[in-house]
Amino acid sequence: MRLPRRFLALHTAPVRRASFVPACSKTDANSLQLLQDFVSRASRLFVISGAGLSTESGIPDYRSEGVGLYARTDRRPMQHAEFVRSAKSRQRYWARNFVGWPQFSSHQPNSAHQVLQQWEQRGKLHWLVTQNVDALHSKAGQKRLTELHGCAHRVMCLGCGAISAREELQTRFVALNPDWSVQTGGVAPDGDVFIEDEQVLNFRVPSCENCGGILKPEVTFFGDTVNKATVQFVHDRLRESDAVLVVGSSLQVYSGYRFLLAAGDRKMSVAIVNIGSTRADHLAKLKVRGRCGEVLSIIQSL
Ligand SMILES: [Zn+2]
Repeated sequence: MRLPRRFLALHTAPVRRASFVPACSKTDANSLQLLQDFVSRASRLFVISGAGLSTESGIPDYRSEGVGLYARTDRRPMQHAEFVRSAKSRQRYWARNFVGWPQFSSHQPNSAHQVLQQWEQRGKLHWLVTQNVDALHSKAGQKRLTELHGCAHRVMCLGCGAISAREELQTRFVALNPDWSVQTGGVAPDGDVFIEDEQVLNFRVPSCENCGGILKPEVTFFGDTVNKATVQFVHDRLRESDAVLVVGSSLQVYSGYRFLLAAGDRKMSVAIVNIGSTRADHLAKLKVRGRCGEVLSIIQSL
C-alpha cells in the first residue's frame, strides 16, 4: 500500500513538542513506506511497547537522552529488595506515590495507543506486550495485552497475594493521613514524586485488610524478575505470530529484550519504531526513527 504524499511531507520537518519526548529530527519517507509494507504483509503482528509510547501522553521515562529522568535528575527507581526489607523505604515510596497518584492516574492514551487498539479490532495485531505500568493500553481498550511489568493501578499484598485497586488504597491513605500535605516536584514513570525525606516521617501506610501484610504496587520493581508463567505465556503468543514490531522501547531491560532474541532465533521479521537506538537494532530488518504516535497514525492496518 502506497502512503499518501501529504503524510510523508508532514514527517520530514524537525519535531519537538512535549517536554518528555526527546528531540526527533527526521522520519524519512522511505522508512515510512517500508514500515507500511511491513505492517501490510503481517497478518498476526506481535507488538512490544515501552516508555517511548507514554512520553507522548506526558509521562517521562527513565532513559531518554536529555529528557529522561536519568538525564534530568539523580533519582533512580525503587529496588525490589529495598522495598521488601525496609519499612522506612516503603513509607517514603508510598508517601511519594500517594502525592503523585492523582496526576499519574489521570494520564490518557495517545494516538499510538489508539492505533494499536484499532489494529487489534481489525485482527491485524495478535498480541501486545507492554513494559509500561501506566494502564494506558487498557484505557485505550486493548484486550490482547500482557503488562509484562505489572500495572501501577493495582496493588498486591506480599503476605496473602490479594490484588486490589490502587484507587481504593488512595481512599485509605486519605483516611489515615487527614492532615498530611507537602510541596512536590515532578512525577516519575511509576507515579513517584520528588519530596524531601523529612516530609514523609509522619506519613501512615496501611497494610493488607485481609492479613495485615505489606502492600506493594503490582509492578515489577528493579531487581525483581518477571513471573515465569507470564514469560512463557508471552513466548507462546510470539510463536503464534508472524512478525514483531517494537514501538517506543530501547529494549535495554532483558525482560523485554528476550522476546527479540527469540524472534531472532526463529528468523522472524522485526521492525522497530523508536527515537533513539535500541539493544535490538541488529535484529531488525527495519528501523524507523520517529515519534510513535505520529508514525503509527499514518500506517494503514489493512
Ligand atoms: Zn494480605
